[in-house]
Amino acid sequence: MGLLSHRVGRNEIKPGDHIYTWRTVFTYSHHGIFVGGSKVVHFTPEHNWIGNLSTEAMTNSNPTTGIPSTCPTFPDCGFRQLNSGVALSCLDCFLGKGSIYLFEYGVTPQVFLAKVRGGTCTTAQSDSPEIVIHRAMHLLQNGFGNYDVFQNNCEDFALYCKTGLLIAERLGMGSSGQASSVIGAPLAALLSSPLKLLMPSPVGVATVTAGVYCMSRYATDIGVRSDVVKVAVEDLAVNLGWSRSTEEEVDEGTSDEQMVI
Ligand SMILES: [Zn+2]
Repeated sequence: MGLLSHRVGRNEIKPGDHIYTWRTVFTYSHHGIFVGGSKVVHFTPEHNWIGNLSTEAMTNSNPTTGIPSTCPTFPDCGFRQLNSGVALSCLDCFLGKGSIYLFEYGVTPQVFLAKVRGGTCTTAQSDSPEIVIHRAMHLLQNGFGNYDVFQNNCEDFALYCKTGLLIAERLGMGSSGQASSVIGAPLAALLSSPLKLLMPSPVGVATVTAGVYCMSRYATDIGVRSDVVKVAVEDLAVNLGWSRSTEEEVDEGTSDEQMVI
């Protein structure tokens, strides 16, 4: 596939790798962290299960764990905490019918700019596989905030697991190439809309704007921009205001009682 993407075989991926697959006839990509044992940790819209499972299928699954009951291989496939979009799926369910692509880290700016489509590489360096897997498994247990296709999506999740980097100002645009620029955002919206079914070649649309798109994408790549901070996974919830509201409710329950010493 040359410069456009880095397609790999199943035996080529290693634990800690950031992998992705194209969905719906190449119009968008879904990202995850391969953690070994044929399992992938990935971030999904909470009520829109990735793959071929409908909302009804989720409702029919175990209500406490959210485990869908349709995976033929692993009984624990699709595990996630309640109210969390971070899920553990087997490779087959993650990929659907798609191929595996490897998200590249530490590429040169020249290679980065040569990529036509967003979300296939970054100039940022990856941390060690052990740290990457630790972040992914921690977030599987603690969540990654609310899914937002433009500000907090599956690619942002994987990028964070690999680098520990977050955009300091999270009120702005996300760090990922899927929605990282003025050109990119409308393009991403266009490609994810039902109109894509009418377009014979979505790739052609991407190519037309590639020049401007890549330059603006480069300016927002987390390996280039200066307003990124390294955040330990244990501090993530505090830094982003994701502390669980249930903890506050517990506090309220005990605050009415006077402590007498
Ligand atoms: Zn599965």
